[in-house]
Amino acid sequence: MIIGVLNQKGGVGKTTLSLNLASAYADEGRKVLLVDADPQGSSLRWSSARAEGLAPLFPVVGMAKPSISRELPVMAKDYDVVVVDGAPRVSELGRAAIMASDMVLMPVQPSPFDIWATEDTVQLIREAQHFKPSLIAAFAVNRKIANTAIGRDVLDAFAEADFPVLKAQVTQRVLYAESAMQGLSVVEVARYGDAAREIRKLAAEIRRFA
Ligand code: ADP
Ligand code: MG
Repeated sequence: MIIGVLNQKGGVGKTTLSLNLASAYADEGRKVLLVDADPQGSSLRWSSARAEGLAPLFPVVGMAKPSISRELPVMAKDYDVVVVDGAPRVSELGRAAIMASDMVLMPVQPSPFDIWATEDTVQLIREAQHFKPSLIAAFAVNRKIANTAIGRDVLDAFAEADFPVLKAQVTQRVLYAESAMQGLSVVEVARYGDAAREIRKLAAEIRRFA
């Protein structure tokens, strides 16, 4: 299964969710590949920040080129799960990464600006579905502030949207940035912590959905 974590907006959590989801699947014993499809190379940087001698949970490769739509499905045959950390803005790369995916996961922060900004990505997905009707897509709320209702407001805002909002939501937590700084995931840093639990929940819901 190829999961494209995509959103034309920057800073919504594509890289954060990609590497943590990849980590959760690897931790379940699945063979995982993380593909960095963003020319900025954040996932590659993340993997190189890992302490020397600490074995990686999964390989990370760079593929920020339009040929990803042809090349990745071939490469993916060797893996149980492939997670694509997508690029913002560049619609040619976005389109190619969408075409490479079986499922597109769109991280969205609980703010009206982020909700409105998903329209471009939704449009790209709709276009891609003409060529690839099996393509499915869903929104994942990221950076929900604990004990606020705005996460629920997001659900309401998306009630009429073409694609569903996953029930599992990711909370705003400093651990996501802290762990990434060391090239680690929240599952590795605090296996039984709240962050690891919500990432595992999201990973499980994606698998049920796809
Ligand atoms: P994108 O890849 O979409 O540009 P990032 O994953 O790089 O987004 O996230 C943007 C910034 O927000 C980063 O500094 C990241 O550490 C932070 N961030 C993302 N998700 C969370 C979260 N759930 N809690 C705290 N910080 C987060
Ligand atoms: Mg990124």
